[in-house]
Amino acid sequence: MAMITTNKIEHNRLTNNNESYRHLFVIIESLNKELIPSSLEMLGEARRLMDNFNLKYNLNEKVIAIHLGDGIKDLSQDLIYYGADAVIYSDDPHLKYPINKIYTKVISQIATDPNSIREISPEYVSAFKKPRYMFFLADSIGRHLSSTVLAELDSGLASDINKLVISDLEIKHQHKTKGENITYKKILEMYRPDFSGFLWTTILCLDNKNPEIKKEFHPQACSIIPGAFLPIIKDTKRTGIISEYHPHFNEEDLKIKVLKQELVKNPVQFENYKIIVSFGRGIKENPEDNIKLIEKLAKLLNAEIGISLPISKKIFHLSEKYDSIYITPNRVVGTSGRKVTPLIYIAVGISGAIQHLEGMKESDFIIAINPDENSPIKDVCDVFIKGRMEDVIPLIIEELGKRLGQTREKEKEIQVNTYGKL
Ligand SMILES: Cc1cc2nc3c(=O)[nH]c(=O)nc-3n(C[C@H](O)[C@H](O)[C@H](O)COP(=O)(O)OP(=O)(O)OC[C@H]3O[C@@H](n4cnc5c(N)ncnc54)[C@H](O)[C@@H]3O)c2cc1C
Repeated sequence: MAMITTNKIEHNRLTNNNESYRHLFVIIESLNKELIPSSLEMLGEARRLMDNFNLKYNLNEKVIAIHLGDGIKDLSQDLIYYGADAVIYSDDPHLKYPINKIYTKVISQIATDPNSIREISPEYVSAFKKPRYMFFLADSIGRHLSSTVLAELDSGLASDINKLVISDLEIKHQHKTKGENITYKKILEMYRPDFSGFLWTTILCLDNKNPEIKKEFHPQACSIIPGAFLPIIKDTKRTGIISEYHPHFNEEDLKIKVLKQELVKNPVQFENYKIIVSFGRGIKENPEDNIKLIEKLAKLLNAEIGISLPISKKIFHLSEKYDSIYITPNRVVGTSGRKVTPLIYIAVGISGAIQHLEGMKESDFIIAINPDENSPIKDVCDVFIKGRMEDVIPLIIEELGKRLGQTREKEKEIQVNTYGKL
C-alpha cells in the first residue's frame, strides 16, 4: 500500500514537473520600514489557499512574498512568521519610493527569472516561466502596480477581489475552448461584487485552449481589498527561505525622482468613535435638511458621520458648508472607502449594496432606517426601522433628548447630594 502511494507521488512529480507556472507570489507593501497590515492579510489568505492546494494536488508549491524597498531586509523574517514560505526581497536606495515604472520592472524581472526561485524550489527551476498566481493589494499603489505588472507579464487581472477559491472547473466556451467541454485545473476563482452592487461576479483567467487561438494566460492575478481577509497569527517558530534579488536598472528607469514624501493624516477618524451614522441616496427628497437632521442625531450620540459612495460624487446641490464637511471621499464606507467596525452603525437611506456592506457588516450592532423593507440592508441589520428618515429621525432625536435630559437631571441630583454631604 505504502509502495503504491510512493509511486503515485513520484508519478505526480514527474508529470507535474514540466508545468511552467509555479507558486503564489504576494506583492508586499511597506511604509517607513513597517509592513502595511493589509499585506499580512493577503499572506494569511495565500497561506490558507496554498495549504489546501498542496494537499489537494499533492504538490509542494510555495507562498512567496516579494518585497521591494530601501532598508527593508529586516522585515523578511516577519513575512515568514505571517505565512510566507519564502521571501524574495530587493533592498536598494532606488526602491525607496514605490515609483510605478521601477517597481513594475523589478517585479516583472523577478516573476520571469527562473533564478529567482532556484534556492526556493530547485526542482521547478528548469521549466519555470512565471508564477502560477499573483496577489497585489487593492490600494492606490497596488491597483496601479498590478495593472502595469500584468500588462508586462502578458496576462489578465481581476481587481478589488474579496473572496478566492482554487478549484478544477469544466468550461465550455466558444472562444476559449472552441465549444468543447474542457476541464481546467487549479483555477483561481476570483470573486467581487458586480457593478450593480447586488450580485457577485466570478472572474477567471483561463488559457485559450482553442487550437486556432492557443495562448496561455498566467499568472492568474488579482488585487485584494484591504480588510477582506484575516492574517494568520504570528508564529515565530515558522521558518523559510529569504533570498535577495539584485535588480538591473538603466539610466532611463532612474529619471523619475521623488524629492519629498509627506504622510497626510485622514481628518475623519472613524476609529475614535463608538457610533457611526452613515447616509446614502435616501436623503434625496431634501438633501440639505436631511443632512442637518443626521448631523443633529450624530451630535446627540457623539457619533462620526459616514456616507455611501454615490454621495461622494456630489450628486446633490448643497451649500458650501455641508458640501465641504460631509461630501468627501474620506467619509465613504465600503470597498472603495473605509472599513469600519463600530459598536453601533446606523445606515440612513442606504440600500445595502455589497460594496457598502463589505465596509460595515462587522459592526457590533446595525440599525437601518429605510422605507423599503426589500432593501438588502435588511438582511444584515439587527434592527430595521421601516420609515422615511424625515419621519423617523425627529422621533429618535426627541426621545434621545428626553432621556439625555433625564440623565443630566439625575447627574445634577447626584452632585447636589454629594456636595450636600460634604
Ligand atoms: C467598483 C464599485 C465600487 C463601489 N464601492 C462602493 C463603496 O465603497 N461604498 C458604497 O457605499 N458604494 C459603493 N459602490 C456603489 C454601490 O454599488 C451602490 O450603488 C451604492 O452603495 C448605493 O448607494 P446608496 O445605498 O446610497 O443608494 P441607493 O442604492 O439608491 O439606496 C438608497 C436607499 O434609500 C432608501 N430611501 C429612499 N427614500 C428614503 C427616505 N426618505 N428615508 C430613508 N431611506 C430612503 C431607498 O429605499 C434605498 O434603499 C461601488 C460600486 C462599484 C461599481
